[in-house]
Amino acid sequence: MTTSAFPTLLSPLDLGFTTLRNRVLMGSMHTGLEELPGGFPRLAAFYAERARGGVALMVTGGVAPNREGWLGPFGARLASGRHVRKHRTVTDAVHRDGGKLALQLLHAGRYGYHPLVVAPTAKKSPISPFKPRKLSARGVERTIDDFARTAANAREAGYDGVEVMGSEGYLINEFITERVNRRDDAWGGSFDNRARFPIEIVRRVREAVGDDFIIVYRLSVIDLTSPGSSWAEVVRLGKAVVAAGATIVNSGIGWHEARVPTIAAMVPRAAFADVTARLKAELDVPVVASNRINTPEVAEDILASGQADMVSMARPLLADSHFVRKAEDGHSDHINTCIACNQACLDHVFQRKIVSCLVNPRAGHETKIKIRTARTVRRVAVIGAGPGGLAAATTAAERGHEVTLFDARDEIGGQLNMARGVPGKSEFDETLRYFRGLLARLGVDVRLGREVTVDELTSGGFEHVILATGVRPRTPPIEGVDHKKVLSYVDVLRGGAEVGARVAIIGAGGIGFDVAEFLTYDPAGGENDIEAYRRQWGIDGSLSHPGGLLPDAPEPPRPPRELILMQRKARKVGADLGKTTGWIHRSTLKMRGVEMIGGVRYERIDDAGLHIHHDGATRVLEVDHVILCAGQEALDDLAEPLRAARLPVDVIGGAKEAAELDAKRAILEGTKAAIGI
Ligand code: NAP
Ligand code: SF4
Repeated sequence: MTTSAFPTLLSPLDLGFTTLRNRVLMGSMHTGLEELPGGFPRLAAFYAERARGGVALMVTGGVAPNREGWLGPFGARLASGRHVRKHRTVTDAVHRDGGKLALQLLHAGRYGYHPLVVAPTAKKSPISPFKPRKLSARGVERTIDDFARTAANAREAGYDGVEVMGSEGYLINEFITERVNRRDDAWGGSFDNRARFPIEIVRRVREAVGDDFIIVYRLSVIDLTSPGSSWAEVVRLGKAVVAAGATIVNSGIGWHEARVPTIAAMVPRAAFADVTARLKAELDVPVVASNRINTPEVAEDILASGQADMVSMARPLLADSHFVRKAEDGHSDHINTCIACNQACLDHVFQRKIVSCLVNPRAGHETKIKIRTARTVRRVAVIGAGPGGLAAATTAAERGHEVTLFDARDEIGGQLNMARGVPGKSEFDETLRYFRGLLARLGVDVRLGREVTVDELTSGGFEHVILATGVRPRTPPIEGVDHKKVLSYVDVLRGGAEVGARVAIIGAGGIGFDVAEFLTYDPAGGENDIEAYRRQWGIDGSLSHPGGLLPDAPEPPRPPRELILMQRKARKVGADLGKTTGWIHRSTLKMRGVEMIGGVRYERIDDAGLHIHHDGATRVLEVDHVILCAGQEALDDLAEPLRAARLPVDVIGGAKEAAELDAKRAILEGTKAAIGI
């Protein structure tokens, strides 16, 4: 009898011809290593590490069946013997570590970012500048053959299966709905005709790979677009792909062009598990739940309550490659939890950078960032227990150094303690829990609540210092900036300052947006409340409307205050926010009636309010408070005295460079500095 806290999650799944060791599927994520010269050994190390970490079945990033199906120019291929040999290095590495790997077959359709793109109808997508060519009937047949041939090659390359990517608005999904499919031949018109393409693909893939090979079909269970599939059509298609040979059905949630957030931090955990549950009730193959499942507890709940047979996690396995092992060992509290920020994973995909993870910079760089035992043990002082300092202290201690971590405040976390109070950012609590436990397990001497002096450091026998003292808020030189109406973001987010009903925010960077969200948030909405999230974004939880969207835009709740968010730059406010999350922040504030303006000149602050020059005119904003979110300056006062005392010092994070600071850079720099000692 198992005594595990996660008996369902960790139970094997018998697929008839093979058995999966537990219920964890690592969802597909393009890493950028696939196309990188010399990337395959790195890709092999990336997947092997996760196989060692206990994942049952991993799905690779999408590989196009032909050139038209590329996501970007010169995407990864599996079309020749040379490709088969390269892919073999990855599958061999995974099998050596006891894992199973399925290749995702992804035809990007009109989401492709290159001139060869095709679609059922020549209709451009709102998220790619390239107008697709309409696939001819012969082209459709050829594409199906290409799917089948690539699947056969996958088998030859040692993969345990394939995932047919039928959701998220890519080519297959485009055939299924009238949103893109306006054809009048055998592949368009009636639902049977529109569904013919995926069904034929699965049937011919099954023919090509034989019976003892996993075929996962990723089915769009809720399109979140209009027009979209009705629930009856989703179920019919699910049953048809199973009849055609699918072994497992995975849940696809929302097209990429949908204006509804589906994986970002403000999406409650397990927000779509009930949709998967309805599908599971209809199908007689294992069904996988997906999106915002980031802890073994959430996963176990979904599985134990019968909502799904497996859970898909992609980002949580970037954040912690040993997620499953830790759950098996009864140490789920040791897991480095994905905070759903997208900053180093999905945002990197769009920036054409290697995918990594904000909380785990080793992800995607397993062969480059190695944490080895130090040759000489040194006494290391880390000053500042923000994200950079925490990463530095724990990495140095992991390498065997004797580490003391100092912070002037009486808690670890630095700026994370401010961020965690912002609506939608409570996942930072998990990061703090992770580091708190790790510091204790590694025996780091943590000294909080007092500023450490240069004398203490020089006389304390330290041989190396990592300075992670962070930043101080910038006070912009505006006349009247010391008026009693003026608050800093620290007063608001950390100090609990009382804020009036009319507010002006100076500075529209990440923190300006955070403060605006914080001040316009209606706590009655409830963070992590699935119903409130659905109401805000117009999601039809009853699935009675095609695509799962309510027909009328939801009436936004009245925000508790009037707010204006400003910047001096003339371009779009919020343009520098994350590629995959910025639009969500902008939409949220728009729904709450926040005025966002660029090209502002600040004149002065006085009893009347904030005087600005905008659009060629002077305007007085009669506000109760002006909140400064005008960036930061480096806090590195200790650096020079320490260097003068001949102590080796690494300055990292905000203390090194305040501009463009974020937790991602701080954690990466902290990790690298500790590896360098
Ligand atoms: P930031 O992104 O650099 O933004 C600073 C804002 O202040 C800008 O809007 C800037 O706009 C304005 N500003 C700068 N100097 C000014 C001056 N002298 N007078 C008036 N306005 C001035 O900094 P932040 O908002 O403090 O954020 C700090 C870091 O935390 C950022 O790098 C960000 O990446 C990170 N962060 C990220 C998120 C996220 O969701 N990803 C959330 C919070 C924080 P103008 O110069 O145009 O006026
Ligand atoms: Fe999760 Fe953020 Fe890491 Fe992406 S970068 S895996 S969202 S913690």
